[in-house]
Amino acid sequence: MDYGSASPVEKRVLEAMMPFFDTDVGNASSLHSSGRKAKRELENARASVAKLIGAPNPKSIIFTSCATESNNLALRGAAMRYKDKGNHIITTSIEHMSVMNTLKDLERNGFEVTYIPVDKDGLVSPQQVKNAITEKTILISVMYANGEIGTIQPISEIGEVASEKKIVFHVDGTAACGKIPVDVEKDHIDFLTLSSNDIGGAKGTGALYIKQGIRVIPFMLGGGQEFGMRSGSENIPGIVAMGKAAEIAIKEMTDESLRLVRLRDRIIDNLLKTEYTYLTGHRTKRLPNNASFRFSFIEGESIILQLNDLGITASTGSACSTKTLQPSHVLIAMGLRHEEAHGSLLLTLGRASTQEDVDHVIESVPMIVSKLRELSPLYSRK
Ligand code: PMP
Repeated sequence: MDYGSASPVEKRVLEAMMPFFDTDVGNASSLHSSGRKAKRELENARASVAKLIGAPNPKSIIFTSCATESNNLALRGAAMRYKDKGNHIITTSIEHMSVMNTLKDLERNGFEVTYIPVDKDGLVSPQQVKNAITEKTILISVMYANGEIGTIQPISEIGEVASEKKIVFHVDGTAACGKIPVDVEKDHIDFLTLSSNDIGGAKGTGALYIKQGIRVIPFMLGGGQEFGMRSGSENIPGIVAMGKAAEIAIKEMTDESLRLVRLRDRIIDNLLKTEYTYLTGHRTKRLPNNASFRFSFIEGESIILQLNDLGITASTGSACSTKTLQPSHVLIAMGLRHEEAHGSLLLTLGRASTQEDVDHVIESVPMIVSKLRELSPLYSRK
């Protein structure tokens, strides 16, 4: 129930990547046959990832080490490249910390950032994005879908706004790619961030789509790998895994998503029967694998620990924010009070999730919630 933070590597993916750890270990820049094989596999994987997102030219895919790096490359790289045109960037108030903190750093270095608010379901309004554009706007960054609340944004409408005004459009597709159809051409996307682990591949690999003709200033300098955009010997096993995961997603995403939607809705419909329980995020414009809630009068952390004792791994929100103990900025941006945001529970499904798992959750959560409420002074005073 915590696929959002890490998911098992698909068996077929594992089989594809294994030989590149010990048998085919060539560096993709080497001239010998082992190196040439690595280079071939690298280019095959690039083509598969390009196909997954509708990118016409595989050369527009740059492999990185993770989604965080891809977001940094897109935002810093575009800001540096276009800084002579202007210093204004538009984003939303619910982006992942890898976008938020990169933009905060750019603000410290002379850029101005507008954070577009979201509605109670976590949706961004394309009109509000349009209204925020000034003559100095050089970049718009909006996530495709939010992994914490599942809400899917109207990306193609926002993309239209950006392309009409000729402003570069970055989309963090980490939570969406491989789960819902993403098409960089139809959605007018100039940069798209992907993570391998989120599409069934291994941790340690990500990718950034950079539309042909758009340029960024890279920050990883060295031997000029990845068309000079990201130097460093390529992680061939990780990239092969990402390519294989993309191939599988292309073939199986539609059926798998339907299966996950059924499981997701079973969780949602059942957990909402518990009193003072609310869905967070949009009910239908929602990732197939995401069921997120908030429970009044209790803390999400207590629910997680009790679920863990029953063999269920779940989360309160983004795994990346747990260190701060702050309530989720996403839930606060949706208008929740701090005490409301503290009662959050995030369940994310994946390939190995079964109806049995889901039924175990449906039985366990209400039991835990009522036990915790019995101990809650807030509940007895309600
Ligand atoms: N963007 C989004 C939308 C995410 O959900 C995540 C976390 N999975 C990231 C970026 C960062 O991913 P990573 O920690 O793998 O770099």
